[in-house]
Amino acid sequence: MPTFKAIVIEKSDGGQKVRLTDFDEANLMEGDVTVRVEWSTVNYKDGLALTGKAPVVRRFPMIAGIDLAGTVESSSHPQWRPGDRIILNGWGLGETHLGGYAEKARVKGDWLVRLPARNSARGAMAIGTAGYTAMLAVMALERHGVTPRHGPVIVTGAAGGLGSIAVALLANLGFAVHASTGRPAEADYLRELGAREIIERKELTGDPRPLGKERWAGGIDSVGSTTLANVLSMTRYGGAVAACGLAGGMDLPATVAPFILRGVSLIGIDSVMCPLERRREAWKRLASDLDAGKLAAVTREIDLSGVMEAGRQILEGGVRGRIVVKIA
Ligand code: NDP
Repeated sequence: MPTFKAIVIEKSDGGQKVRLTDFDEANLMEGDVTVRVEWSTVNYKDGLALTGKAPVVRRFPMIAGIDLAGTVESSSHPQWRPGDRIILNGWGLGETHLGGYAEKARVKGDWLVRLPARNSARGAMAIGTAGYTAMLAVMALERHGVTPRHGPVIVTGAAGGLGSIAVALLANLGFAVHASTGRPAEADYLRELGAREIIERKELTGDPRPLGKERWAGGIDSVGSTTLANVLSMTRYGGAVAACGLAGGMDLPATVAPFILRGVSLIGIDSVMCPLERRREAWKRLASDLDAGKLAAVTREIDLSGVMEAGRQILEGGVRGRIVVKIA
């Protein structure tokens, strides 16, 4: 039986082991579409899975990688034919279903989104789950009526993957973006993406007051914990904040004051089980609203042998922007 290269996580009594190895095609899981994977990416959740720092992986052995882009090799799904170019984000990939750090994947056709004509597979993975989630967050703010004329918006964890793409998208849509970062050395990088002001991370990590000075019409948060609580307390009357991440912690030490006294909305963003219609819309919007030059500027490339190290770096907050993984 043929094999292909993959990053496999195994678990034993001694703990978790991760290696780049040959994987037997016979051990691929069930699915109606087989994909030749060309590109993947490294997200925060990939870091959690690769290091075992959180129980992301729920089946062993597991091929890691929550994202993939490539070409359909064979299909019994009515919508997909050999040669079709596709993207897959989430749906349990790399968690419960063998994932994207592999030359081959067998998946459900219902999970796939067609690669927009304007995107390459590499470009789609430069966006990846982090960027597609940033787009879901922007769309959520729009649904809540947050527009550039309502005032500035804040992005937290701004120099990270989700944050960088959120800054670029919001700036392109005409918002005055305030970028919060713990890395002052990245101020120029964030300004080039379109940030008007840089907010020091520590301004948002102190003990939150129930209500603070009204500063932002909206926000996209990838940090959680005291950062999100502070952002909520400083959101203007009627504003909305999209909660996407937990890079600073899973807790939320907030009060109900912003909700009941200022009509602020807290919107939850989930990319993994997000319905297909909204995914398609997000990918369509990304093809038109994300500046290709800015995307290229936030992206660096590695191959499968660099994935473990990148997974460690991302958990330490040491990755700027996005990383694409060349598979084929
Ligand atoms: P990155 O590591 O690229 O970005 C996270 C950023 O958060 C860092 O770059 C850093 O930004 C900031 N940060 C890190 N640690 C801390 C800390 N202790 N306190 C405050 N800020 C911190 O990760 P991603 O962009 O891939 O993901 C961001 C978050 O969003 C993660 O929690 C991830 O799990 C979540 N996520 C959720 C999704 C969903 O479906 N809801 C989908 C995708 C991601 P800086 O240096 O600028 O301060």
